[in-house]
Amino acid sequence: MSGTFATLRNAYHLLKSIDFRMLSKLSEKIDLPKVMESVARMDDNQLNGLMKMLGNRGAKKKLPPVEGDFYDLGSRLSTEDRALQLKVRAFMEREIQPIVNEYWLKAEFPFEIIPKLRELNICGVTYDGYGCPNRSYLMEGIIAMEMARVDASIATFFGVQSGLAMGSIYMLGSQAQKDTWLPGMQQLNIIGAFGLTEPEVGSGAAGGLTTTAKRDGDTWILNGQKKWIGNATFADITVIWARDVDDNQVKGFLVRKGTRGFSAEKIHDKMALRIVQNGIITMKDCRVEETDRLQHANSFKDTSRVLRMTRAAVAWEAVGCARGAYENALAYTRTREQFGKPIASFQLIQGHLVEMLSNLTAMQTMVFRLSELQDQGALKDEHASLAKVFCTMRTRDVVSRAREVMGGNGILLEYNVARFVADSEAIYSYEGTKEINSLIVGRAITGFSAFV
Ligand code: FAD
Repeated sequence: MSGTFATLRNAYHLLKSIDFRMLSKLSEKIDLPKVMESVARMDDNQLNGLMKMLGNRGAKKKLPPVEGDFYDLGSRLSTEDRALQLKVRAFMEREIQPIVNEYWLKAEFPFEIIPKLRELNICGVTYDGYGCPNRSYLMEGIIAMEMARVDASIATFFGVQSGLAMGSIYMLGSQAQKDTWLPGMQQLNIIGAFGLTEPEVGSGAAGGLTTTAKRDGDTWILNGQKKWIGNATFADITVIWARDVDDNQVKGFLVRKGTRGFSAEKIHDKMALRIVQNGIITMKDCRVEETDRLQHANSFKDTSRVLRMTRAAVAWEAVGCARGAYENALAYTRTREQFGKPIASFQLIQGHLVEMLSNLTAMQTMVFRLSELQDQGALKDEHASLAKVFCTMRTRDVVSRAREVMGGNGILLEYNVARFVADSEAIYSYEGTKEINSLIVGRAITGFSAFV
């Protein structure tokens, strides 16, 4: 009796594990009743082994898509915006992904991508005129995210060109300055840089810039140094922020490549954003025409207007990094097997994946609303700062979990997550550190300034 029961039970489990098409083929070639008899004599371990073997040979389980937009925020975009998002994604996956690790390792910029980037027509995406697409801030954020999802260095290069450099001219330049520079910059024929930070003055730039500007007839004489300036080594034009020695106010100057007394030296051996060419700029009695002074930049408050806009895009970049890391890690855990099973089937690994997705989804929802505020003209410094603080903090958590679930391979460049881990460190610090952005939010919510 117990033998019959064992036969039935084992046969049932065996049949459950076999693909039906496979079973009908098998019955043509082997004596199935005899096989069942042998199966009945198997113990549980032997039966499990057989089922696993047969299961592995059957049809592959259909898995859900690897998708970092869990709440389907993409569905809130217009058809036109969605198409542009997918175009940028395709560009990044087709043109950047295959070369990115090589360039990251060499710490060089892939100039050959510029003509292809130009074709996307996304530079100065929110600006009106000068060949710019005049799209929403939401679209600007989506572009930053899509770029950073594949590579944060390219997103940073683009952010400096389209946001910081073009934005300074668009928001603070005279009509003549806009006409002179923006069409060429929009086409990436003219590359820009933005020089605010100095070797001795980073967070304290608002009140502490040491680079000086001295008016001399129709020209200005600039003296000082700038540090960390993205694109500095090859930029055609650099926006330099300097303190006017006469009225003590911060002013902006458009310094052309090759200007006498102006030099840029590459910063070597960075452990993050290695593709971005950051430089130290030295100005020694560097003369700039009054017509190249940004005509509507009269104090640091004007500089801050540019930073408010670009800080929002940096929060989106952080989201892109987190999304890239999460999607790479999720795909990896579904194919990597340990103990005979995909590691994605382990509870502790799923715990990490869900933590990552929670953070990523919170971040995406936050920046989506941030851009809505920006599009409504209601964005305040503290809104941008809060998103920058939260997203860069959460991104650090997501990328480190992504690295963790990939074990040793998590630190190899070829598996794509190590780069996000390193790059998220730079994004965490630039455009205002966590502390400085927290102080901006703290001042807004308490009414007390804790800046020292
Ligand atoms: P510091 O100001 O020296 O800060 C050191 C630490 O002290 C930080 O943790 C900071 O939060 C903390 N701290 C400072 N003040 C306070 C305070 N009052 N209360 C509490 N904590 C405080 N700059 C540009 O102008 N153009 C660029 O293109 C550019 N690109 C960059 C690219 C990269 C990869 C990096 C890393 C930086 C870039 N920067 C650029 C500079 C960047 O904006 C600065 O690094 C940043 O503002 C911080 O300045 P700092 O590095 O001098 O740090």
